Amino acid sequence: MLADPDVAAAVERLGHDLVVRTVREVAQRARDGLLAPEQVVPETVAALPDSASGLRPVVNATGVLLHTNLGRAPLSAAAREALQVAAGTTDVELDLDTGDRGPRGASAVEALVQAVPGAEAAHVVNNGAAALALVATALAAGREIVLARGEMVEIGDGFRVPDLLTSTGARLHEVGATNRARLDDYRHALGPDTGFVLKIHPSNFVISGFTAEVPVSRLRELDVPVVADIGSGLLRPDPVLPGEPDAASTLADGADLVIASGDKLLGGPQCGLLLGREEVVRRLRRHPLARALRVDKLTLAALEATVRGPRPPVAEALHRTGLAERAAALADSLAASGIPAEALESGATVGGGGAPGAVLPSAAVALPGRFAKQLRLGDPPVVARLERGRCLLDLFAVEPADDEVLRRAVLAAH
Ligand SMILES: *Cc1c(COP(=O)(O)O)cnc(C)c1O
Repeated sequence: MLADPDVAAAVERLGHDLVVRTVREVAQRARDGLLAPEQVVPETVAALPDSASGLRPVVNATGVLLHTNLGRAPLSAAAREALQVAAGTTDVELDLDTGDRGPRGASAVEALVQAVPGAEAAHVVNNGAAALALVATALAAGREIVLARGEMVEIGDGFRVPDLLTSTGARLHEVGATNRARLDDYRHALGPDTGFVLKIHPSNFVISGFTAEVPVSRLRELDVPVVADIGSGLLRPDPVLPGEPDAASTLADGADLVIASGDKLLGGPQCGLLLGREEVVRRLRRHPLARALRVDKLTLAALEATVRGPRPPVAEALHRTGLAERAAALADSLAASGIPAEALESGATVGGGGAPGAVLPSAAVALPGRFAKQLRLGDPPVVARLERGRCLLDLFAVEPADDEVLRRAVLAAH
């Protein structure tokens, strides 16, 4: 079997074990009389996956720009290229001039510092949660973190920021009521045990009505370090998302340190960004836990290319126009093939911990609900949104070049 040219080619691509396992499974079906012996090779080749990784490319037609279940931000072409280069042996921690060990990921860090006015220094860890864990450990283990009750956030899938913080050995000192906190609440909570004041962006919910929060620009009046978890990772303000905090403005307001994720609105790889005062960042970088949370060369490469390179897909999607025309063209073309498709206006969301409550104008193609599962099981899988029993293909997070992929997927699912 392995000598067959098609199977041998698959071994080259996918590795020996995976191919042999598939051969055995298919051969067993032949032994059981379910398959003609001459069908074993073609069946094996058909049953083999496209790649040695189980992760498959998926078209995100949910209208949720940053879908955590779909890997959040898709990377830019520049970032993908950088990944390819870094995938080999690379100078991630070597100074080629001197031949000595160099600071790890120095050029990615430099890119961040250059991109964020007010950031004296930067450090990159595995994700936003790791950044919080590092800060809590390095600045407040055995001491207190002061934060508002209304900012005790659950990120998703049961992960709660307060639990993460206390798991480091820090204690939480909650201030204010669920809907309101005042500067004096914070002031009364401060004491010799205070490590820092933490401001968390409620990135996946909104509290409205009789509310008050204390902005970073006031918290800076307190005589303790102020750490702001802005969640989404906008480095600078974006007029499309007026309510969303960004790193540069938060530092300008007086935060000593800003925490953000790399794979949300920044549009890069999964990582946690720590930006702020040199002295604070140095303490984090030198803490023993930093080593356990450090990112690999692939992340550093993709992050730097995202920050320095052309606008990544997430930012492109946020600023794209012409969605209604695309939806109309797609619906017309499907209708011409006898599929009951209808273009309609839709509302997209940022998702993944960004711009809670913001509905972004979008357009979708509505199909009968039964299409949703067929599309998900197709090749490539298309993930749509179910709304009032209908299957909506929302174009907000779909690259225009993928409209044709969507069209073929719907035809195949018909
Ligand atoms: C998303 C988010 C986190 C967690 O970041 P990950 O990169 O998912 O670990 C923490 N805080 C806030 C406010 C967030 O929005």
